[in-house]
Amino acid sequence: MTEVTLGRTGLTVNKDGFGVLPLQRTGMEEAARILNRALDGGMNYYDTARAYTDSEEKIGRAISSRRGEFILATKTMAGNTEAFRKDLETSLRNLKTPYIDIYQFHNPQDFPRPGDGTGLYEAMLTAREQGKIRFIGITNHRLPVARAAAESGLYDTLQFPFSYLSDERDAALVRDCGKLDVGFICMKALSGGLITDVSAARSWLMEYPNALPIWGIQREGELEALFEAQQQPAVLSAAQRQRIEKDRAELSGNFCRACGYCLPCPAEIEITMCARMFLLLRRMPAGPLLSEQWQREMAKIPNCLHCNHCKDNCPYGLDTPALLERNYEDYRKALEEAGAAKSA
Ligand code: SF4
Ligand code: SF4
Repeated sequence: MTEVTLGRTGLTVNKDGFGVLPLQRTGMEEAARILNRALDGGMNYYDTARAYTDSEEKIGRAISSRRGEFILATKTMAGNTEAFRKDLETSLRNLKTPYIDIYQFHNPQDFPRPGDGTGLYEAMLTAREQGKIRFIGITNHRLPVARAAAESGLYDTLQFPFSYLSDERDAALVRDCGKLDVGFICMKALSGGLITDVSAARSWLMEYPNALPIWGIQREGELEALFEAQQQPAVLSAAQRQRIEKDRAELSGNFCRACGYCLPCPAEIEITMCARMFLLLRRMPAGPLLSEQWQREMAKIPNCLHCNHCKDNCPYGLDTPALLERNYEDYRKALEEAGAAKSA
């Protein structure tokens, strides 16, 4: 089993962490089976958030009796100290634990620091003094904020999107976190579903010994696929390198990472799926994507109000309305082609 030490925290965990966000969509019983099976299989880092609806509760119900066996991280989006304290108490109660190992600020616009007037960083320090949290972390999707937080010396861990589709600036951040002794947790190791080869994604991340990927798992089959990938040699094969090069060529440039920070959309467009549809159609079986449900969702794109809420909130600087339009055109073509193939 490969392990990672999270910088100055000294916490050493299995290199395959568990991202609990997708368990929001899983029933209570199945979630309990998955969490226990993951723990039995050696996964001992669990990362959730106050914002992931009932995922904290699912962890609390399923594995809090085994609390000594795993490291637990959650997050708060609180913008003031009152909300911070409320979030922390709610998380502790839901997770059925007296302490959280890593408590993270969840993707703030800028990173909290002592004396910035919000009192948020001071609230973290108080929580640590009270023994309610052990280490202070931050998550971010914006490279300048992530880098500045890591370099500030205020954070024990940084969570940032990182996969083989990331660019050299992102890779430099991972390496620099190593030098700064800041634990590096990578979200979106499959780039929001665009990477479909878990084994290649995992082997590639092995080349970054200080990076801890958290794999989003929703179904028992996905967990078993991860366990299967663990049986493969953890070095990139020639075929995997080829696959990565092909994916990079196909997905180069700006693409939607499905982070959801542009939501909600007043026109009720499912941006995280609709803005990636042309990529997904090339990379997954088209059938489910051409279903009546997705046709209905895609048909909402022309209702865009051009309010620019999405564009203004996209941490990747995407022109989201334009991206949606391109996806809409592409989707219409795919539907026509599928219709023509059916009637041929
Ligand atoms: S610009 Fe269009 S897609 Fe973006 S949030 Fe506004 S209505 Fe939704
Ligand atoms: S458009 Fe931007 S903010 Fe919205 S999901 Fe995609 S990457 Fe995230």
